[in-house]
Amino acid sequence: MPPDDLKPNFQVTGHKQWVNWHENFKPQPLKKLIDVWNVRPEESRIEWYNAATKGFQEVIADALRRGDSMRAIGGGWSFSDVTRTDGILLNTRPLNYRFRIDHNQAHPGYGGDASNLAFVQCGISIADLNRYLRNKGKSLKTSGASNGQTIVGAFSTGTHGSALDVGSIQDYVVALHLIVAPERAVWLERASQPVIADTFPSMLGAELIRDDDLFNAALVSFGCFGIIHGVVIEATDLYYLQAYRRLMPLNLNYSRK
Ligand SMILES: Cc1cc2nc3c(=O)[nH]c(=O)nc-3n(C[C@H](O)[C@H](O)[C@H](O)COP(=O)(O)OP(=O)(O)OC[C@H]3O[C@@H](n4cnc5c(N)ncnc54)[C@H](O)[C@@H]3O)c2cc1C
Repeated sequence: MPPDDLKPNFQVTGHKQWVNWHENFKPQPLKKLIDVWNVRPEESRIEWYNAATKGFQEVIADALRRGDSMRAIGGGWSFSDVTRTDGILLNTRPLNYRFRIDHNQAHPGYGGDASNLAFVQCGISIADLNRYLRNKGKSLKTSGASNGQTIVGAFSTGTHGSALDVGSIQDYVVALHLIVAPERAVWLERASQPVIADTFPSMLGAELIRDDDLFNAALVSFGCFGIIHGVVIEATDLYYLQAYRRLMPLNLNYSRK
């Protein structure tokens, strides 16, 4: 374990129920709501990211000992109760680290431009991610209407925008770092689309698996596939969207023609 001053803060809030941001369903009873904070939120470092992984694994071990169920939440913006658990709810929203992928960290068989790749922690909001990418002259391939969702919450439910040639966020997620057990974490990619050099997952203490079916199953999995700690997204060059508005005559009869 990291020394005490480098341990992430897993803060048990004392709340025994939880409701989504927009309060449109009944509060869910639960045993514990835990807010997860990085060691130093303002500075992204792999050793602190790894410390959060260890923290997740301790919580999983404790939940297994007690027989508690567990689920992660992101922004809490989903309108349905897809975040439901009667056990432990882990609030991952404060986890906002972001890392660039150097060319030598990309897989030799990766067919894209490595400067478009970013490795980000699960709780980073779409707003924060947009700002990070913009400073690099990059952009998400598509966007939805608002930006308070977290990256993992948004693609775990298959949401947030689409365009003519690309679907919503899950279509440009290319690697997942899943915490699945007290002693096990997995780096998951598609076999048909290797992205990261084989040495990268070991830096995170993760086992490398390349499997299309497994990757596709874990991608839009509504929080049921373990804790997704980090993901690699594939961005694109910054682009400009032109918006057009046109006044249309209001003709209530047009559909009956
Ligand atoms: C104001 C508003 C505007 C919206 N605009 C759009 C839009 O324009 N386009 C669109 O498509 N959708 C839109 N949505 C819907 C929104 O994108 C989805 O509800 C999205 O799932 C919310 O993301 P979240 O981070 O709040 O996730 P949450 O609601 O917190 O969680 C969603 C799911 O992800 C899982 N999850 C979250 N984090 C993790 C993790 N670290 N590991 C494993 N599982 C995890 C949860 O268990 C849950 O099953 C909007 C919603 C609101 C409230």
